[in-house]
Amino acid sequence: MNLLPKSTRLIVREYDSTPTVKQIRGVDHVFLFEPKLKSGRLLPKMPLQKQIDHMQAQAVSKSGVLSHSGDARQPTISYSHYAKGASVFDMLTLARKHYAALKNLNPTRALVLCNDKSEEVRKAFAEAVAAAGHAWICPLTTFKKRRARNRKLRYLDAYKVSDLDIARLKAEADGNNLARVLAALPPNKLTAASYTALCQQLARSNNWECEIFDQSRLQKAGAGAFLAVARGNPHANAAIVRLRHTGQQDRPQLALVGKGVCFDTGGVNLKNAIGMQQMHEDMQGSSVALGTFLTLTALRPDDTLECWLALTENRLDGEAYTPTEIVTAANGTTIEVVHSDAEGRMALADTLHLASLNKPALIIDYATLTGACIYALTTRYSGTFTNRDDLNTALLAAGEDSGERMWPFPVSQDFDDILESDYADIKQCSLDGKGDHIAAARFLSRFVPAKTPWIHVDLSSGHHKGGLAHVSSDVTGVGVRFTCNLVLDKKIGDQLG
Ligand SMILES: [Zn+2]
Repeated sequence: MNLLPKSTRLIVREYDSTPTVKQIRGVDHVFLFEPKLKSGRLLPKMPLQKQIDHMQAQAVSKSGVLSHSGDARQPTISYSHYAKGASVFDMLTLARKHYAALKNLNPTRALVLCNDKSEEVRKAFAEAVAAAGHAWICPLTTFKKRRARNRKLRYLDAYKVSDLDIARLKAEADGNNLARVLAALPPNKLTAASYTALCQQLARSNNWECEIFDQSRLQKAGAGAFLAVARGNPHANAAIVRLRHTGQQDRPQLALVGKGVCFDTGGVNLKNAIGMQQMHEDMQGSSVALGTFLTLTALRPDDTLECWLALTENRLDGEAYTPTEIVTAANGTTIEVVHSDAEGRMALADTLHLASLNKPALIIDYATLTGACIYALTTRYSGTFTNRDDLNTALLAAGEDSGERMWPFPVSQDFDDILESDYADIKQCSLDGKGDHIAAARFLSRFVPAKTPWIHVDLSSGHHKGGLAHVSSDVTGVGVRFTCNLVLDKKIGDQLG
């Protein structure tokens, strides 16, 4: 079975002028944005002003998006106001709502126009509508007899803008779409084995190196933390997959690491029925790492990048690992197992250690790791943690500027008290659960050398009912745009390399 749907393409074109009537008549739909003005109309008249006035006269719908069905000779329009100082997140959200307002309309050609004095704002809206469009047309695999209609949108013309980074928008969308498509797959389709095979397939088509650390190889490497989780799966098909793109230098500038638990039953500390829903998405850290790798290798071919994926399943076969066991990780650290459902940190521990052996200038890991992070932030933000406090400002700003919002948490050393064990070097977690997102980050830090800059992303916003920012599916694939902003705009890797 081919796990990836046929990719769809959205061609974005830019024009620095206002569209002519002919150009407007040439599209099926118009996305219009205008600032909220205190009084009167200070802005020049927009094309289609009559229809806009008509829509303004109607009540604004709950979403803040008005739509108008054009007559046969005219395109449909969706129109909305935005407040001054709207953030990138606000713009992306508004763009998503414009697509939602299309309902049964299925345009092939659309144009986007923002009537703002600031070129920067006009550009930001064009980018938001393009990003939301790329996400909107990407089908997530479903298994219904009656398939939903494919979205036809193929051309998006952006007016009154110049210098859009169209290649970057597309590459980021490819990464985000891959992350979401994989996360939406059911656990009997995306198993640790089929996921590994898919990585090999992607490596072939993208010219990446691919190395598989299967269970027997991991046994030899002493990866007892990862293997403790794998033990509960009778198929013995767990693996750590290393992908590599070699640019100009041998040493990786960046290693991306992801938690890929294809299904999380909780193990012997079995989850209840509600807790087990969506647990096929517990591999989203790995799909975000993989999606980001796809994006960055396309945009930065001269960089040397690695991607390490911890692919496993947390099941409860007779051999499944149990609380109070003591296991030894690949870096020699002994771990007292406390709760079988805290499997993500176990699988990541050895993966982080292996990734760090190649001395990358920076490690970023992604994981749907803790419920505590969701309690702290809800599913609107994700949490970041780093062993370099001076990166926190850039992390916050990259979240703000990409619209994939992140919030930094402290990881000071005294939190280690939570993980003190009478029997081993460290406890896996504590049962009282307070600040477990921080304790988990402290746990992971034991497997990254202090000299290696490291960022851990707890993907609490990986699933948000109704979608988040520009993404309209519940699974958000959050992390790709954020990381691109961090690496390409904040140039974090360059500073560290
Ligand atoms: Zn778990």
